[in-house]
Amino acid sequence: MKTMAMNLSTPIEQIPRIGPVFQKKLKKLGIKTIRDILYHFPHRYEDFSNIVPISKVKINENYCILGKILEIKNSRTWKRRMFLTKAIVQDKTGAIKVVWFNQPYLTKTLKIKDNVCLAGKAVTGDDGLYLSNPVYEKLPMINDKLSMINFTHTGRIVPVYPETERLSSRWLRYIIKPLLINFRNKIPEILPQKIIKENKLLTIEKAIWQIHFPDSINLAERAQKRFSFEELFLIELAVLRARMALNKEKARVIPMDIELVKKFLKTLSFKLTDAQRKSSWQILKDLEKPRPMNRLLEGDVGSGKTVVALMAALETIKAGYQVAFMAPTEILAKQHFKEVSSRFKDFNINIGFLTGKEDKFISKKLKGETIEISRAKLLEKTIKGDINILIGTHALIQDKVKFGNLALVILDEQHRFGVEQRAHLMRDRGGTGEGLSLIPHLLSMTATPIPRSLALTIYGDLDLSLIDELPKGRKKIITKVIAPANRKKAYGFIKKEVKKGRQIFVIYPRIESGKSEITKNKISSWTEVKSVKEEYERLSKEVFPKLKLEMLHGKMRPKEKEKIMIGFKNRKIDILVSTSVIEVGIDVPNATVMVIEGAERFGLAQLHQFRGRVGRSKFQSWCFLFTDSPAKRTHQRLKALISSENGFELAEKDLKIRGPGDFSGARQWGIPDMIMDSLKDVFLIEKTRQAAKELLEQDPELKNHSFLEERLKEFRERIHLE
Ligand code: ADP
Ligand code: MG
Repeated sequence: MKTMAMNLSTPIEQIPRIGPVFQKKLKKLGIKTIRDILYHFPHRYEDFSNIVPISKVKINENYCILGKILEIKNSRTWKRRMFLTKAIVQDKTGAIKVVWFNQPYLTKTLKIKDNVCLAGKAVTGDDGLYLSNPVYEKLPMINDKLSMINFTHTGRIVPVYPETERLSSRWLRYIIKPLLINFRNKIPEILPQKIIKENKLLTIEKAIWQIHFPDSINLAERAQKRFSFEELFLIELAVLRARMALNKEKARVIPMDIELVKKFLKTLSFKLTDAQRKSSWQILKDLEKPRPMNRLLEGDVGSGKTVVALMAALETIKAGYQVAFMAPTEILAKQHFKEVSSRFKDFNINIGFLTGKEDKFISKKLKGETIEISRAKLLEKTIKGDINILIGTHALIQDKVKFGNLALVILDEQHRFGVEQRAHLMRDRGGTGEGLSLIPHLLSMTATPIPRSLALTIYGDLDLSLIDELPKGRKKIITKVIAPANRKKAYGFIKKEVKKGRQIFVIYPRIESGKSEITKNKISSWTEVKSVKEEYERLSKEVFPKLKLEMLHGKMRPKEKEKIMIGFKNRKIDILVSTSVIEVGIDVPNATVMVIEGAERFGLAQLHQFRGRVGRSKFQSWCFLFTDSPAKRTHQRLKALISSENGFELAEKDLKIRGPGDFSGARQWGIPDMIMDSLKDVFLIEKTRQAAKELLEQDPELKNHSFLEERLKEFRERIHLE
């Protein structure tokens, strides 16, 4: 391979062995450069290191043999259905038959007199012992000088890569091995020596070999540990530096107006919980500072985050600035618009509402009167500063939406937004004021509790406020897994609840039936997945013919969705049959039963969210879980849901059961699977955080660590932090 001019940033197009088809496949996996491909790690290994003389081969055991091909030819079975490639391979101690099934092309590669290493299991058939479908590898010669380096697919511990995009492990080995040889001693070490020593890590040189072609499983594990460390270390550095940078930025000072807060609290029909009070205080204190707040308000579903955010909004508006309030779905944005409209009705505030799909804009003029104005007019009012608070969806971050003096951005259900979208919001959108570049304060909210380990990493640049108690008087939601035999009984129960005047949610994992959908999070799809459309038909015709049912899913037009949500809120609908669009934030206190079908398809955090849709009033509420999945993990998860009502506890459990795959943002950060696992390791995270802190204290600009600085830059581009 000609690699004279290659370095780690060289695009894969310049690797001679990778043709256009494979380039495309690799790109789909996000692999663009040589570094990316070298950092594409195996997820497990196959141990083919047990090489034995042919005479020692026994039935039903895995072996590797080295020999010369005496004979090889293709044939077909008598049914003419199957190709057989039969060969005889010999070494000094004897000969053995080999059979491959349905791989007739092998005779193009493997010829008589070729030296091969074969790895596989020996079995007996009609004509004696033979190796069945062994993995093969051609060798230029067989002699005593053969060592590990000569083997790629057999004869050693062999890497097995996640075979997505139909990239075989064999092909990846064929690409990666020569690259490793070419880049021997040329991969710069980014970790400082001190850190390597203190944490007993393998050096990059050693680790990159050992992760792909390990001499032992122990070394493979040590290599993994080193790369986990490296990845977490980069995350921590990025996060800590983002924080340092933010601390240097300027933001508008919003003085705390206690009288205003008191006036607002008087309008509420309830008293704030202690946790709400404490969080509000932290937020209002942040707003008084001349640097941008970056705070995450974490609180379980129904804990009352919205009023806390509204206090911050009110203070900001009364200080003369604008607020943007963004929600991930239209339904939720609309709900916020309504809530804000009613809560602010005595405060003389102009409220705007903007979504992307809906080409209609409403501006809430003084005292509760709603008028519709054109999009252009709304945007104009926003830039002039006439709109005090603009509520909406992603539409708020379009470039044409400009604010006159934006000082606070509120992001609801922030885990639903991409890192990029969040970053976009943080850009200077506050106008230029007195020639200063001002960054708005950011308050993000989430009901998906983030385990501490993740909070330290991915959200490490955020300050955290916790609402860890629910308003008083809420009843515990009774959660049950319903066995298929009891389905009828459950339906009977639902009918009774409706008779009492209550309402019901039924959630399905999918909109339409069909088998093409790929299962998420390795959850197998051996059951027919129930779909909203089919089940809506069945439930309304066969099960609840006398009740009023409606269907809700993400493919419906915003107007239809809204109509249905409003209908449900106004009790015009008894049973709402929905997909997970219902998940976030929806507040219908009269609903008392949440039925979740295909519960195995949802993560714990999500299930907990669904459950949080009920239990919002004085009525006793229930959550019924249906699943056909026999998987142990599913039952573990559902059990956890039953035994705990605490979102934080559940998040920790989910992390243990499933790994962090589903957690907020972890995927968006492009963290490799292997490393994702290490996000469970709080101890490791704390170590890397400490190391990153110490390094930045000595060398904040990383001037003396140029390789690291360079790598960090690439890393930040990868995760779109800027
Ligand atoms: P979430 O934190 O899930 O966003 P919401 O802000 O939607 O929760 O609040 C859930 C419900 O609880 C709302 O109807 C809200 O008016 C009500 N609520 C908020 N705070 C309190 C409180 N301190 N006491 C009683 N009800 C409250
Ligand atoms: Mg909410």
